[in-house]
Amino acid sequence: MAEQVQAPGPAGAPPRVIAEAEGARPGPTLVVVAGLHGNEPAGVTAAERVIGRLGRGLYPFRGRIVALAGNRAALARGVRHLATDLNRQWVPDRIIPVLHRPAGADEDPEDAELRELHGALCATMSGGRGPCFFVDLHTSSAEGAPFLVVGDTLPNRRFAAGLPVPAILGLEEQLDGSLLEYLSELGFVTLGVEVGPHDDPQAVHVLESALWLALASAGLVTELEVPGLVIHRRRLRRATRKLPRWVEVRYRHAISPGDRFEMAPGFRTFDEVRAGQVLGRDRNGEVVAPEDGRVLLPLYQGQGEDGFFLGRDLPEGRLRRVALLRRLRLERLLPLLPGVRRLGPGRLHVAPEALERVPVDWFHLLGYRKWRAAPEGGHVVSRRTHLLRAPRSCACAGARGPGKG
Ligand SMILES: [Zn+2]
Repeated sequence: MAEQVQAPGPAGAPPRVIAEAEGARPGPTLVVVAGLHGNEPAGVTAAERVIGRLGRGLYPFRGRIVALAGNRAALARGVRHLATDLNRQWVPDRIIPVLHRPAGADEDPEDAELRELHGALCATMSGGRGPCFFVDLHTSSAEGAPFLVVGDTLPNRRFAAGLPVPAILGLEEQLDGSLLEYLSELGFVTLGVEVGPHDDPQAVHVLESALWLALASAGLVTELEVPGLVIHRRRLRRATRKLPRWVEVRYRHAISPGDRFEMAPGFRTFDEVRAGQVLGRDRNGEVVAPEDGRVLLPLYQGQGEDGFFLGRDLPEGRLRRVALLRRLRLERLLPLLPGVRRLGPGRLHVAPEALERVPVDWFHLLGYRKWRAAPEGGHVVSRRTHLLRAPRSCACAGARGPGKG
């Protein structure tokens, strides 16, 4: 097992390595990060409890599980972050300068967290032999049902399918610089778990149940080896009753501080809305839903760049058809369409005129869910790059950072 260096942290913070356990037989590696936001300690407790039980040797398992604390300085103070959101820093342009700067130099507290957590992830990965899975545990400020954040690749979908919790596809692709995105591009099979609210004691139980089922879905245990399997399943089903299994993001209401956007009160993630329904206000007046769907992540606390998202239910049959299209690698045909140009692996330039002929849905269907305005006009559109590969062993990108694309 790789030696993890435990730097002394701020008083009251959990250690960087919250807990770890190694099974009797080789198998997959599951890395858990908890408390990437410092006001979300429930994940730390959940990881301690699950790995604590595994570590006592009462349950057989394969491979290795390691839980790492996210933003320790913020966890010690019970705040989301001190200077910058640690879950928006995971891009090479941010990571590389921080890794090259000596620790202790004049820098934001989150720079030190980024450097340490990156080092801990590398140490964990260098000891991994089998495929690598990653789970990011969060709680939210608002009441609402638990949900999963799933980058749209077939291995990620299979991983998420082991948990009876609504999974949102295409949300991870919208959030720039998330740890999920970074590790996904390094070849991890990834899953974000969001449970509400922060201070609800039940949040710890729900995260524990999610973690046990993630262990089974990643193959460290079989479902029958999960202690209390029925209880975990029932707990998750009860918390997510009447909600669809899969929802895809169709629309992002991007905002900037100058917009003075305010969400209308009372919306919760998964609430159904009709086209034209008022969802908020900004300096130009009412903000309405552009189409029928479900509201996702309505912005009620603090600042952000996303006012809300709109999603649509994805029936299982459609998911299976999409999986078939992906296996046939039909995305290779997209650059043949007029106005679509290949920029690199998993990256396209889509000219505005292309969208007059080709519906955006076609791109979504084939996993191209991240749309960003291109400087020369049109859009740079990308998908997760381990789309069709089997989960591979982890490899640390070190100071180079992952290749984009
Ligand atoms: Zn969070």
